Amino acid sequence: MDIRYRSTRGDSEQVTASQAILRGLAKDGGLYMPETIPQLEKSLKEMASLTYQETAYEVMKLFLTDFTEEELKGCIGRAYDEKFDTEEIAPLVKADGAYYLELFHGSTIAFKDMALSILPHLMTVSAKKNHAEHDIVILTATSGDTGKAAMAGFADVPGTRIIVFYPKGGVSQVQELQMVTQKGDNTDVVAIHGNFDDAQSGVKAIFGDREFAKEVEAMGYQFSSANSINIGRLVPQIVYYVYAYAKLLENGEIQEGEQINVTVPTGNFGNILAAYFAKQMGLPIDKLICASNDNKVLYDFFKTGVYDRRREFILTNSPSMDILISSNLERLIYLSTGCDGEKTGRLMKDLAEKGMYEITGDMKERMADFVGGFATQEENSAEIKKVYEDTGYVIDTHTGVASCVYRNYAKTTGDTKKTVIASTASPYKFSRSVVEAIEGPGSSDDEFTYIDRLNAISGVALPQAVEEIKSAPVRHHMECEKDGMKETVRGILSGK
Ligand SMILES: *Cc1c(COP(=O)(O)O)cnc(C)c1O
Repeated sequence: MDIRYRSTRGDSEQVTASQAILRGLAKDGGLYMPETIPQLEKSLKEMASLTYQETAYEVMKLFLTDFTEEELKGCIGRAYDEKFDTEEIAPLVKADGAYYLELFHGSTIAFKDMALSILPHLMTVSAKKNHAEHDIVILTATSGDTGKAAMAGFADVPGTRIIVFYPKGGVSQVQELQMVTQKGDNTDVVAIHGNFDDAQSGVKAIFGDREFAKEVEAMGYQFSSANSINIGRLVPQIVYYVYAYAKLLENGEIQEGEQINVTVPTGNFGNILAAYFAKQMGLPIDKLICASNDNKVLYDFFKTGVYDRRREFILTNSPSMDILISSNLERLIYLSTGCDGEKTGRLMKDLAEKGMYEITGDMKERMADFVGGFATQEENSAEIKKVYEDTGYVIDTHTGVASCVYRNYAKTTGDTKKTVIASTASPYKFSRSVVEAIEGPGSSDDEFTYIDRLNAISGVALPQAVEEIKSAPVRHHMECEKDGMKETVRGILSGK
């Protein structure tokens, strides 16, 4: 079946998968959605013995229907290779009554690698397919992990440039070092004086600026996005949920057809939305437990039906989830309206103009698969310590939020279904917070002291990504105000 994509905001234009990937965002500012969500073709029992790469092909071919088998398999092969430090790509670890799906074995040690190691390949194939005349400029706002993972993917890819904006002071020391030491002549990194939402809004505004698009076209460029609004990010993320279920089946942890729950530490709502897509494709998932940190806008939303971003932005020890505008929620809103683009567009307009919107009772009912929860920083730290003391397994601060929310959910509901927790970062990426959760406040300000300590506590070897930043020279020094992003992009592209 040929799948087309259209905007969540009502524009009637239908595009192919490759066009949706190239554009990132639809012309009316909406997000691309497949017109139908395809069903898995093979049974999960058949998929139990497949490798990660084979699973990826089985899932992705159903969405990217204008890619040939050779093209898609080529992309998958180039993405999921030795850049990952384990052949399993996404191993499942059973600890303390749950299954942690480790999504951090790629080159930048966070789950963003799962999609961003394949996106550049999907994009270059898409560019060829559509005879794109211009070089693609990837504009990316990052709460810490997307930026590095996107640059690692796009560095020195011919026909592309990438510009990353991150919130100055809003990312961990390791995250910042990873970004400012990035190699590649086509990469630029800019620290903005603002938070992640400022960066994301700024990037969206540039995408929506027709005049500016013409101006950069004259310079030989066209913009695209590596943020999780790109369908080319969402589709590869569905794969690991199918893979995890198939592995549970293969290992005899569950019976065929048995329902599981999934808990996801959530920021921009991309990862958990992928799990929801997997469910829609026929994967036996019951609840999707959406875990937030102190920025619990999603928890409040699932409880009340009111999305209200008018609140203080809190910097936490799980910075990649410090987000008040969860872009991908728009896709769930759209589905819950029965794919009504006008209605979705109106709610998004309310969000932009009033800072809030409210959904109807009907829409809320259609989201009943989702359960919201949140963990404060103290609860998160206590959870990291508990899991370590019970089992010796060390989890990072984002996974800690999910783990804590899962435990509270199981306790208050009595739901005993097997649960997969998305483990989204290596603890090494947040060494100080993790070590302090386990051993109490430390006196050093040097991140590497905590990295060595974590090594001693966990017994897990230092990942290549951490070894690299120890000695790598800083290559990027640019900063800008939050209303100066367009000017900065203009300056970079015109070589000033
Ligand atoms: C990006 C990120 C998240 C949030 O994922 P979303 O898809 O934005 O909800 C959680 N944890 C880590 C470590 C991340 O990098």
